[in-house]
Formats: sequence, C-alpha cells, structure tokens
Amino acid sequence: MTLVFASNNQHKLQEVRQILPEHITVLSLKDIGFHHDIDETGLTLEENSAIKAQAIWQWLLSHQPSTPINGVFADDTGLEIAALNGQPSVRTARWAGEECDDAANRRLALQMLEGHTLRDAQFRTVVTLITTTATQQVQGIVRGRISHHEQGQGGFGYDPIFIPEGYDKTFASLPAEIKNSISHRARAMEALRQLLD
Ligand code: IMP
Repeated sequence: MTLVFASNNQHKLQEVRQILPEHITVLSLKDIGFHHDIDETGLTLEENSAIKAQAIWQWLLSHQPSTPINGVFADDTGLEIAALNGQPSVRTARWAGEECDDAANRRLALQMLEGHTLRDAQFRTVVTLITTTATQQVQGIVRGRISHHEQGQGGFGYDPIFIPEGYDKTFASLPAEIKNSISHRARAMEALRQLLD
C-alpha cells in the first residue's frame, strides 16, 4: 500500500514511517512533485487537516490519475489552553502574528497566562485519511500544563513551556524518546495505524 503524507517535514516523515507498518510506503509531497502552498482557511483543526488532504487528493486525481497511490493523509496540530477557551488552536503556528517565530509564540503564551493558576493545556493532532473508498479522521491528544518559565533546549515550537501530564519537566527538557512515545502526533499516528489495520 502506498500513501502520501501531506508534508515535507523530515522529522514528521521519519516519525510516521517508524510508526506505520513496513508494508505501507509513505511518500512526501516532494516525492509526488507537489510544490504548491495550501491555504489553511479552516476554523478548526479538523477542517484544516481535511483541506490539506483533499487538496493533495484532488491534485493527484487530476495530475497523476493512473498513479498506484492508495490514499493521502494530512495532519494539523494545535495547542489548546483551557484558561483561554481552547485557544490558540488553529492559530497555534501564527499566534503572535503572521511572521512570528516560535519564541514570540511562547512569550505570548506565558504573558496570556500571567497570574493564572489554571494552566491546563493540551496538544491535539487531527489526521485526515482519504482513500479511494472513504474519508476518515483520527486524533491524538497529550494533556499537560503550561510552565511558568521556559525550560530545556530540546524539541521545537512550544516544547520549552509544555509539561506533559505525569512529568514535572517540559517536553524540551525530557529525552526525545519520551516525548516521541507520548506526543499528540505519535498518538494520532498510532490511531492511523489502527485504522489502516
Ligand atoms: P503543525 O500543524 O504540525 O504545523 O503545528 C502547528 C504548530 O503547533 C507549530 O507551528 C508548532 O509551533 C506547534 N507544535 C506542533 N507540534 C508541536 C510539538 O510537538 N511541540 C511543540 N509545538 C508543536
């Protein structure tokens, strides 16, 4: 079985290839020659993940109709902070502005939670799988809380301020193997694996 993953992120591709069984070949967007930007105009992670998967699937049907590809899947991840009614959600990547970087987003999160004792948050990844027979969605969640200060050098994004449930260190301070075994993305990919079983 051959599936296209709507990403060129090597880290994600490696993670996905490790989790899915060997008989599933996972191609990147580069592998299929897709070099366009997809506008993520959805209001939810579910919508954005579906928009990405549908864009690639439609492109494949019109550009490579005889390709032996069985399906496409796309992910979308958001940080959902309880005290902020689940924000930033779909705005997670650009929370501090269109051109912002990870450090600016983290500063904004700490600033928004200043004085808050309720610091519960979760990362949620939604995966949309489109095959010739169906469109299905699965998700992976890791619950935790936002720290009061940045801690740790590892990971990326919000990792220096996210402490997963059951631990007292941020993702950025924990070994990568631990993060990769409990992360939202790993759990979503595990759910995808079960769907494909
Ligand atoms: P994407 O949907 O994977 O592009 O993720 C959206 C945003 O969520 C990214 O820009 C990151 O800042 C953040 N993010 C996604 N996954 C993680 C993670 O594992 N740790 C920290 N931040 C993440």
